[in-house]
Amino acid sequence: MLKQKSNRRILLILTILVVMSFINTGCTQGETEYKYWINSDSDVRHNSSCQYYGNTEHGYYTNEKVGTPCGICGG
Ligand SMILES: [Zn+2]
Repeated sequence: MLKQKSNRRILLILTILVVMSFINTGCTQGETEYKYWINSDSDVRHNSSCQYYGNTEHGYYTNEKVGTPCGICGG
């Protein structure tokens, strides 16, 4: 009786872990793929914690340390 209960608990935990790993892989795709956002108008580099990351009118994502580091986030 006791053994059956613990087996069910392990199954439940495993199910939760599998579901959570699916959710995690879905979320990490895309948004954290690149380290920097380059404002192509001013050539200023923003890191992913910056308010301007991916948020200027013209720009692109990159992993290269190019351009001028941002004064707010440090690039
Ligand atoms: Zn910045």
